Amino acid sequence: MKLISSGDRIKSIRSSRQYKDWRKKVFEKNGKKCLFCGSKEKLEVDHIKPLALYPNEALEIKNGRVLCKKCHKKTDTWGVFSSYKDKSNIHPVLRGDLFFKLQSLPQMIEIKDKEIGFSLKYVPSLKKWRAGYKFANINLTKYGDTFEDAIDEIFIRLKYSK
Ligand SMILES: [Zn+2]
Repeated sequence: MKLISSGDRIKSIRSSRQYKDWRKKVFEKNGKKCLFCGSKEKLEVDHIKPLALYPNEALEIKNGRVLCKKCHKKTDTWGVFSSYKDKSNIHPVLRGDLFFKLQSLPQMIEIKDKEIGFSLKYVPSLKKWRAGYKFANINLTKYGDTFEDAIDEIFIRLKYSK
């Protein structure tokens, strides 16, 4: 099993042609102005669900919105996972222990030549959160009553399985 760091995973998504297409389509959908303040300067395309937490939804058009740089920085998920100059910018639920755990979890694992991205999902039929890596018959996931619990479980599983 090969582990790909979250930083490398994000870099590879951001440099892909599909990502450039995604940005273009989000601009087409939203128009070339900030969704919050209407500014037309320094526009950026933001992932509503942070790229670092939801890499599988990185290229979904409905997961993108256009914001100006100022408004983008004010969002509570801005820069999740990037190195922080100002730690107070970290999303409250990601501070401390949970933030450390999420940062340590690989965003991508490679098993039998298959690349599987990290996913965090609520499973309504079980009323539980599922965190981990799942593709076809490969299932490396853990459940929890809250997403914090699910992240805890998969973190422990991976940490002690090496
Ligand atoms: Zn704005």
